[in-house]
Amino acid sequence: MPELPEVEVVRRGLARWVSGRTVAAAEVLHPRAVRRQAAGGADFAARLGGVTLGEARRRGKYLWLPFADGTFGLLGHLGMSGQLLVQDPATPDETHLRVRLRFTDGGRELRFVDQRTFGHLAVEELDADGLPHSLAHIARDPLDPRFDDAGFLTALRAKRTTVKRALLDQSLISGVGNIYADEALWRSKLHYDRPTDTLTRPLGQLLLANAREVMTAALAVGGTSFDSLYVNVNGESGYFSRSLDAYGREGEPCYRCGTPIRRAAWMNRSSYFCPRCQRVPRQRAA
Ligand SMILES: [Zn+2]
Repeated sequence: MPELPEVEVVRRGLARWVSGRTVAAAEVLHPRAVRRQAAGGADFAARLGGVTLGEARRRGKYLWLPFADGTFGLLGHLGMSGQLLVQDPATPDETHLRVRLRFTDGGRELRFVDQRTFGHLAVEELDADGLPHSLAHIARDPLDPRFDDAGFLTALRAKRTTVKRALLDQSLISGVGNIYADEALWRSKLHYDRPTDTLTRPLGQLLLANAREVMTAALAVGGTSFDSLYVNVNGESGYFSRSLDAYGREGEPCYRCGTPIRRAAWMNRSSYFCPRCQRVPRQRAA
């Protein structure tokens, strides 16, 4: 599943290859890909015809291209397997091609390819800040220059929850995801089940700094590989080349203390952690 750094790489690709161009026609090849469009696929296509797309934007893992007049935007989420590809019109259709945008310049098409179809595209109205209405409840992500560190730390410690749940709570902080949550927790020596109201402010600050650091490092890798992938605005760029300290390393030695990394079932997912560096909180272990 693409995480925030991969989605940011896609945003940059869209900004470079799609922003500023005018849509000639949109074609929906699978209705599920536009299921959030209340009035259906025909309405989706009709709204995009003749529209010039503005600067690509992102909030958490959502991407959108505002229309040049600022009233509406083309919103997308890659889900588990979605990809946005910028392809030469002569390139044969991908097996799982769901939506195609042709442009008036006759150049490269924008294709939404999604094998599992958990992702989606929709045309949505934008609010006064240019944000799609359905994203109003989603907090900024830690890579956003306008992310409010102090506000986040206060909200984090006030919340009656556990620390990993908080990191994945999109109303508190967006875009972290399972992989970067485990990585940030390992770096901060925090157990995923630690109650947030036991976090000191400096510990909260450390956790936020570490989340930001792992995501920035992954973005640097993804950004590099995107340039060499010239046309692939691909949700998985950089995914395999990044180095991880905890996630996916079950049974392998912790890079800090040598203790084998453990994997625990956690909310239908997995949590990877070092049982020595990241102790189970005392009040839970009792
Ligand atoms: Zn360790």
